[in-house]
Amino acid sequence: MIYCVEDERNIRELIVYTLETSGFEAKGFASGAEFFQDLALEKPELILLDIMLPGEDGLEILKKLKNSTNTKDIPVIMVTARGAEYDKVLGLDSGADDYIAKPFGMMEFVARVKALLRRSKKVPSNRRLGIGKLELDVNKHVVTVDGEETVLTLKEFQLLQYLLENVGIVLSRDQLLAHIWGYDFDGETRTVDVHIRTLRQKLGTCGELIETVRGVGYRIGEPR
Ligand code: CA
Repeated sequence: MIYCVEDERNIRELIVYTLETSGFEAKGFASGAEFFQDLALEKPELILLDIMLPGEDGLEILKKLKNSTNTKDIPVIMVTARGAEYDKVLGLDSGADDYIAKPFGMMEFVARVKALLRRSKKVPSNRRLGIGKLELDVNKHVVTVDGEETVLTLKEFQLLQYLLENVGIVLSRDQLLAHIWGYDFDGETRTVDVHIRTLRQKLGTCGELIETVRGVGYRIGEPR
């Protein structure tokens, strides 16, 4: 069950409908009060939280969720209008697991929900990620290209792991920066570009799997 807290009725209904047609069970709530009523009865596997809400806003709700032992492990995606508000929220160490800017495409939206659900599942003992000839062993911390081991720095490894956990999805420089370097890292997004460049070089023939999406960020996937 996925919960969606969004006061704009059209968006809420569209999100619930999209999730249901993608095989999920979903429930929409117009306010934090309604949401907390149901939360007392049932534990959702993921929560989508709008920020601007009547009464308690999304960030206050998030804080409550993350401060309670019953709900702190439920993954949360903050949904917010693009622009100043989105930038501000990205800059906060709010504890959310992902961020989506409105307006968003429904395909991308579902892909992000699925990726977060995958990430939040317990890590199996031998976890491997990969695409084509590229393989990353999460537990052994080993990356191989066509069977040959490639030595990466910790940041390069984390960057590659995050990209591989989101195959086919564009990750913005801000997202990568926040996820790998932490929200309080006050470096520039250029840091991301520099690490992507060295990562591509070290991956040799598999370097081209990392695609630059102009003006947005990066995506890993089969070359198109
Ligand atoms: Ca709203």
